[in-house]
Amino acid sequence: MALNPQTRSWLRTLLDDRVLFDEPMSRHTWFRVGGPADAYVVPERTADLVELVRRAASEGIPYRIVGDGTNLLVRDAGVDGLVIVLRACLREVAVTDRSGETVWVTAMAGARLQRLCRFAAEHGLEGMHFAVGIPGTIGGSVVMNAGTSAGCMADVVDTVTILFPDGATKVLPREQVRFGYRKFSIQEDRSGSEGWVVLGGGFRLRRGDPDRIQKRVIALLERRKATQPLQEPSGGCFFKNPSSGPSAGELIDRAGLKGSRIGGAVVSAVHANFIVNSGSATAADILRLRDRIREAVSKRFGVDLEEEVKIIGR
Ligand SMILES: Cc1cc2nc3c(=O)[nH]c(=O)nc-3n(C[C@H](O)[C@H](O)[C@H](O)COP(=O)(O)OP(=O)(O)OC[C@H]3O[C@@H](n4cnc5c(N)ncnc54)[C@H](O)[C@@H]3O)c2cc1C
Repeated sequence: MALNPQTRSWLRTLLDDRVLFDEPMSRHTWFRVGGPADAYVVPERTADLVELVRRAASEGIPYRIVGDGTNLLVRDAGVDGLVIVLRACLREVAVTDRSGETVWVTAMAGARLQRLCRFAAEHGLEGMHFAVGIPGTIGGSVVMNAGTSAGCMADVVDTVTILFPDGATKVLPREQVRFGYRKFSIQEDRSGSEGWVVLGGGFRLRRGDPDRIQKRVIALLERRKATQPLQEPSGGCFFKNPSSGPSAGELIDRAGLKGSRIGGAVVSAVHANFIVNSGSATAADILRLRDRIREAVSKRFGVDLEEEVKIIGR
């Protein structure tokens, strides 16, 4: 869907050089694949973000928030409408209350999750250890309920601030949002279209011993380096782990798929649940390799693997 001249002109007036038309998403995803977004927009002010969402929603222009694109596969033909990025307008991480044992921290959606982890370590705050080394933004990590076997965002989130498609914003307490395994939803979805945007969150952390926290951060980063193909472009774990039994990575490995390749897409030899881009992959290569993996695992073990990576575009 091409944007009409009025929409292009509105975007240029509102955002000046902070809108790029027909911008290849391969420049903005960790897989390094993906066709063009009709418009890639990076608002600098929250008021501009609100205006973008409100007007796009009211005029039926598709829009999607993208964080760092670390869990995102964009198809080769590109993305209709607006891709909105929050890194220039919602960046703050700050302590809001440290009077007791529990310390409340707010972090805005465009800030990196690793900034919150570093902030916690530097301030001697416990609670973020599970997230050490997970790339991406606060917004993306809330929406994905990012985590590891040591915990997930749901364990530390106290409030989530939401922008609704009609332009209203609301701070939702923990009881009014739902987290699942790499899943997030809100009870009050006024649009029913999931057109809401996470603007940031309030996090409940605890006072801890700074030395111990720092040592644990170093150990966790070392472990990640040893077990994940961090030098190659990927979207992290491609599939969710089944609710019981062996992990997705173990099943893929046992199906003999490590090193399996289609075009430039390869099943990592380091971690079988990572599909990596060896340099020339297209989204179509990755999707065909996904199908091969699913088929082999289903045939061999009777397990249907579900994607963790979000797939968007046409
Ligand atoms: C090397 C590597 C290691 C990884 N390790 C882990 C791990 O250990 N655990 C784990 O859970 N994940 C892991 N991931 C996946 C990924 O890092 C997380 O899911 C991360 O939280 C995604 O953040 P992002 O900003 O990149 O989101 P994106 O990939 O940009 O987006 C993810 C989804 O969230 C939506 N979204 C993003 N921001 C907003 C917002 N503000 N409002 C509404 N919707 C939004 C997007 O539309 C999309 O649907 C890994 C990825 C890589 C590449």
